[in-house]
Amino acid sequence: MVTTHEIATQQRAQELYAQADKNHLDYWASRSRTEVHWDTPFTEILDWSNPPFARWFADGTTNACYNAVDRHVAAGNGDRVALYFEGEPGDSQAVTYAELLDRVSQTANALEALGVTKGDRVAIYLPMLVEAVVSILACARIGAVHSVVFGGFSAEALRSRIDDAEAKVVITADGSYRRGKPNMLKPIVDDALANNGHTVEHVLVVQRNGEDINWVQGRDRWFHDVVDAQPTTHELVWHEAEHPLFILYTSGTTGTPKGILHTTGGYLTQVTATARDTFDLQPETDVFWCTADVGWVTGHSYIVYGPMSNGATQVIYEGTPDAPHRGRWWEIVEKYGVTILYTAPTAIRAAMKWGRDIADRYDLSSLRLLGSVGEAINPEAWYWYREVIGQNNGAGTVHEDGTVTPGPRQTDPVAIADTWWQTETGAHILTPLPALTAEQLKPGSAQRAVPGIAVDVVDEEGNTMQDTSQGFLVIREPWPAMARTIWGDNQRFVDTYWSRFDGMYFAGDGARFDEDGDIWLLGRVDDVMNVSGHRLSTTEIESALVAHPLVAEAAVVGAADETTGQAIYAFVILTEESDGVAPDEAEANLREHVASHIGPIAKPRRILITSDLPKTRSGKIMRRLLKDAAEGKTQADTTALATLADPAVMEEILNGMRG
Ligand code: ATP
Ligand code: MG
Repeated sequence: MVTTHEIATQQRAQELYAQADKNHLDYWASRSRTEVHWDTPFTEILDWSNPPFARWFADGTTNACYNAVDRHVAAGNGDRVALYFEGEPGDSQAVTYAELLDRVSQTANALEALGVTKGDRVAIYLPMLVEAVVSILACARIGAVHSVVFGGFSAEALRSRIDDAEAKVVITADGSYRRGKPNMLKPIVDDALANNGHTVEHVLVVQRNGEDINWVQGRDRWFHDVVDAQPTTHELVWHEAEHPLFILYTSGTTGTPKGILHTTGGYLTQVTATARDTFDLQPETDVFWCTADVGWVTGHSYIVYGPMSNGATQVIYEGTPDAPHRGRWWEIVEKYGVTILYTAPTAIRAAMKWGRDIADRYDLSSLRLLGSVGEAINPEAWYWYREVIGQNNGAGTVHEDGTVTPGPRQTDPVAIADTWWQTETGAHILTPLPALTAEQLKPGSAQRAVPGIAVDVVDEEGNTMQDTSQGFLVIREPWPAMARTIWGDNQRFVDTYWSRFDGMYFAGDGARFDEDGDIWLLGRVDDVMNVSGHRLSTTEIESALVAHPLVAEAAVVGAADETTGQAIYAFVILTEESDGVAPDEAEANLREHVASHIGPIAKPRRILITSDLPKTRSGKIMRRLLKDAAEGKTQADTTALATLADPAVMEEILNGMRG
């Protein structure tokens, strides 16, 4: 049944598309004027006189922190909860917008007291704590450029990011909790700063787990000592629209991480608009939970800036999905009545592997919209996400033997927003808006560009693809939240993104149109395979594998081959139900399964059953290491290994390939 709310949402989306189609510059200007508070209104929309270095709304002034916090308090919504913090050990905290304003103001004062001024860089190396959000916003408030470094990174990775940005201050914590144990951060900062030659003057330390830490006199200060002493009011400064807001390093799946620079006004416009549109976000009633870490762009755009600029109520969670038990996420959804959940396919596949009995124990009836980001979502995972998580309409019955009979289901399927975007794009680029009814959604496809973005799929020469075969995903026109450069390296920015096709941004991903003109992502072009002249997509073969009941996760690569050009190798993690199936038998079954699903040409030469796959710390599969293994390298590339969450997984795989 279609509700009045759905009809209104669909109408709204159609209007947005129509308005954007008329003139995308006017569209963005109008979205910006309605959704962002400008102190000095802008009169210029886009300056593209020096491509690819865009300037949006350049003569206006605004403040990202004011938009995310102050204006909600000024509008009388100070009592609304901004953040429900859930600690891994089970401690929790509800912080209202008014309280957040006090805290951010104190932190802004504290940073200024430490000598941080507009334009200085501050490195933030924190767990998922309220202080992470507060620190980010305090930087934005005073115009310091934040560089958040994900808390899972090593001392070396942290140091290279501190040096690249020349950070003056590091904000960290003693540590956090991870799977019930202390997970230390401060010792890593100490290691990172052990050798001289860095620019750091102060290290601010949030006390979280109370473990003993070393202290460097004169450099280290407790966050609470410095911040609590400050007044809760802070005189706001307005910043030019193009003032740098943050530097963020890409996750490094395809190469050395790049320090992507985002600026203020355009970024804020697009994250605010897309947080509202993609998720149909209703700040008065929704409880939004984006499970990403603030260390990734998803945390920047869809925890801090986008939802908060809309005045949303959000959940943030410190720990892992399996601590202290594998139902922790679903327990949190139930506890806070989460209405919109935004997560990554890797997490959904892990939950699938653990089995639906776990999620079925909880009442997830509050959920009304689901989002996915980070990788293509395999149709199998998409259906599971919708049916097990999205359509849950009450807790199931737990039997004595531990099995669970699922609770009632919602009859109307919830929408899933599969969002394609990148650190470089700053905000959503492709996603079906909730304007599409459930019947129009296509599992596994991010479908269409958000209003006002000119996405295309082109051939080698940059011409729009005329059929449904594989091409390159590009963006033809500048967009507000686009990266402005790679920090300190304009030439690398030009070379990496703007040199492949004349005048177009090349995203690095392969894609194709379907008959309806919807877009399907097919994996990184570096990963696209060419087998006997046939171009095959890693994503499609992986999806076929994951659709098999034996398979929990799969990664596919093409390895150089003298006769066929490339040969397909698959690396597969089996499901828990697969107990007792011999690896040879599994391999034979799966090869046939791929052949019958896609065609004999797609049949993998070899399928290696493994217990884990090489993943970056953001949970993405690093295919280039698998490709090396498939091509017979006996040793993994050390720089690539350093960006893995668990470098040890490559040993098993290299051994397996030898066998
Ligand atoms: P690096 O650029 O250093 O190699 P990275 O590309 O993994 O790292 P991110 O910016 O975090 O760093 O990821 C963006 C990439 O993630 C996209 O280019 C795309 O390959 C993939 N991606 C993100 N969302 C989706 C999606 N919904 N469908 C398919 N792929 C996606
Ligand atoms: Mg990338």
